Amino acid sequence: MSLETIPVDSPDIEAILATTPTNLLIDGRWVPASSGSTFTVYDPATEQPLVDIADAAPADGRRALEAAVAAQSAFAASTPGSRAEILRGVARIVRERMEVFATILSMEAGKPLVESRAEINSGLDFIEHFAEEAVRTEGNYQVNPVSGGRMIVVKQPIGPCILITPWNFPFSQAARKLAPAVAAGCTVVIKPAAETPLVLMAFAQAFLDAGLPAGVVNVVTTSSANAVMQPLIQSGLARKLSFTGSTPVGVELLKQAADHVLNVAMELGGNAPFIVFDDADLDIAIDALMINKMWNCGQTCTSANRIYVHSSVIDRFQRLLIERMSGYVPGHWRDDGVNLGPLINRKQLDAVSAIVADAVAKGAELVLGGARPDGPGYFYRPTVLRDVPSDALLNSEEIFGPVAALMAFDTEDEVVRRANDTEYGLVAYVFTENLRRAVRVSEALEAGNVGLNRGTVAYAAAPFGGVKKSGLGREGGSEGLDEFLETKFIALQL
Ligand code: NAD
Repeated sequence: MSLETIPVDSPDIEAILATTPTNLLIDGRWVPASSGSTFTVYDPATEQPLVDIADAAPADGRRALEAAVAAQSAFAASTPGSRAEILRGVARIVRERMEVFATILSMEAGKPLVESRAEINSGLDFIEHFAEEAVRTEGNYQVNPVSGGRMIVVKQPIGPCILITPWNFPFSQAARKLAPAVAAGCTVVIKPAAETPLVLMAFAQAFLDAGLPAGVVNVVTTSSANAVMQPLIQSGLARKLSFTGSTPVGVELLKQAADHVLNVAMELGGNAPFIVFDDADLDIAIDALMINKMWNCGQTCTSANRIYVHSSVIDRFQRLLIERMSGYVPGHWRDDGVNLGPLINRKQLDAVSAIVADAVAKGAELVLGGARPDGPGYFYRPTVLRDVPSDALLNSEEIFGPVAALMAFDTEDEVVRRANDTEYGLVAYVFTENLRRAVRVSEALEAGNVGLNRGTVAYAAAPFGGVKKSGLGREGGSEGLDEFLETKFIALQL
């Protein structure tokens, strides 16, 4: 049985669990871990086991990387047009099976189906964008101004890549890396997070079904990320490491990558300021905040962490916020009326609880929520904090939960200084109707991305990435393809 046999419109969960691959994908074949070991994937809304998945050992990782290395030169020699066609085929397969993919994603990540569909669609945007970019890799040809010879610049696939993705957007984060890697002509080993490996299995199968040659995409699932990935990163066999995840893990991987001067892209943590000036349209700002803050139960690297509202409008903004936050219904994604999923695991639930408790202990006012509901699942109530003191943990750490922290400010200089007072620089949001202020503040904020009267900034056609401890490199845009290309200069003497 394969995913293709599952009805597209109303996928049956038992059938999905029985047919989604659960092994490692090495050299075009799904194979069990060499030791036969497995680990369990859980439903975060019930805390109950969903399915057991192959638990790779270091030797399995090595085999996967060797398969990628062996497939590299033939894949690099394939035409960009044929790679674009494969990506278009993948997009077609995923789009046709949207409900199956969305259901798998909701099962393992706990997201409401509407969010899972949106995430699959976002990933499809990246696949289709890079199908188009695949055929637009440019070089250069010019007369050498000194020797009179010719100067030729070509872009070539960088080579075998190691891709590591997080649990919060397991489909779209994988698409943001897999699509440009394949478009550029690179082979890969990809490791999903242990919490959410299933949707990547179905995604990888779609690549095989679309005609991707064996060995180009290899999937390794493991409960021992460091033990399996460190030897690969330090093997000298890979040419690129593209990682999305937390900053502490990113820093560790950068050190490992240094041994072989491995090319790296790092999409790391954020601590986004969300600034609402007194001249902002508060309805626009609150709509933007709700999508931004509550999407994926706040477990988003682009989520507003510190919400600065001008003191003359903060009371009104707080009333709007409480009204909107009170409309969220936490629960299992299968239940009617539910629009807020759980946090991903116990660790995340404890971390969010601790961040709220710390803020309250240091003097913040708890205006809404502040606790988990009764019953199973890693749920946390929508929470609003007011006047969070500067020494509270949430000023320096990602909340990663449905917690909105309001803080008043009085002047533009003050709020820009406070917004920039962080080690992170992924995204910042500005709400104002004043054009000069909008440009001035957007340029002054230390962030790779700025949402100006908008609560979302990630698009396939735009470069996304962080500054400071939020990362290195960009995903999306033409920059996203460049990450997987190496520039070569050929000096030609006539
Ligand atoms: P994480 O760093 O714990 O894990 C990310 C991935 O790295 C997982 O696959 C994990 O298994 C793997 N990993 C963990 N330790 C490893 C090690 N020693 N060696 C190799 N692999 C290892 O992050 P997470 O909790 O899964 O994701 C949440 C974090 O990701 C947040 O900090 C969030 O801001 C960040 N994030 C950033 C972006 C971005 O685009 N900048 C996007 C999404 C998430």
